[in-house]
Amino acid sequence: MPSFASDVKNELSRTDTERECCQTAELAALLRMGASMVTDGELGLGLRFEAASAAVARRVIRLLRTMDAAIETSVAMERTPQLRRRTYIVNIAAGEAVTPLLTRLGFLEAGTLRAGTDMELIRKKCCRAAYLRGAFLGGGSVNRPEASCHLEITAKSATMGRALHTLLRRLHFPVGLTDRRDTYVVYLKEGDAVMDFLALIGAEEAAEEIEVARNLKEVRAQVNRLVNVETANLQRAVDAAAGQLAAIERLAAAGRLVSLSEDLRETAEMRRAHPEITMAELAALCHISKSGMSHRLRKICTLAEEV
Ligand SMILES: [Zn+2]
Repeated sequence: MPSFASDVKNELSRTDTERECCQTAELAALLRMGASMVTDGELGLGLRFEAASAAVARRVIRLLRTMDAAIETSVAMERTPQLRRRTYIVNIAAGEAVTPLLTRLGFLEAGTLRAGTDMELIRKKCCRAAYLRGAFLGGGSVNRPEASCHLEITAKSATMGRALHTLLRRLHFPVGLTDRRDTYVVYLKEGDAVMDFLALIGAEEAAEEIEVARNLKEVRAQVNRLVNVETANLQRAVDAAAGQLAAIERLAAAGRLVSLSEDLRETAEMRRAHPEITMAELAALCHISKSGMSHRLRKICTLAEEV
């Protein structure tokens, strides 16, 4: 069964990014998350990108082609037998086109690799969303809507982890950062934040699914509360009726029932005949008001205490 996270990635990889600035930002984030440089002797630099799903691999290839039609790519699939997981490898062949591409992405400066924070790429608001989409596609995960809210992006470098943390904080997300061994995880735990993030990066459907699940959870909690209140009321009525019956039996045992006023005697007989009904129903049977019935029953209980 595909996970919710992979559904989200499928949705994201179908989104259209028309602006060139955003395409560059998204591709840069994707490559930062899952690419490594490969040097191939005289041919120069190549890239190897590892994607967790075919959709993400296709997205990378599409973005690469849009940026530069001359880029040569090939795809391979690798299986990790222990984890029963497939990894899709996008190989970007070493060649003349790679260096200009990496320079454009800001990864190379004067021919050397730069582990920058891509600040130039995310100056514009539209590009920030695109950059975060790339980061999520490259290393994101999110709980399914029925579970507790949790979204995280796992970066392989401290620089990228911190860059994502800073960017999300600037966008006012309540974001956390933690390192697990060699990975750096930025995460969101609040439902509203998870929904806002998904909507921001273009996963509107996923955001809506979470909202629907959250509403359902709320309605269920309300129903439970109501049922609990009703159960408590019912229990109180049962306890009260038991107390009244005990009082009546006590009066009967002492031979005091016959000496009660007619009203009280009628009430006692009715209660004995209908031990399970509520006080309101008892009042209706005796054709008196609820407060009148309450008064009579209290009187019976007081008299029984005196026995
Ligand atoms: Zn843009």
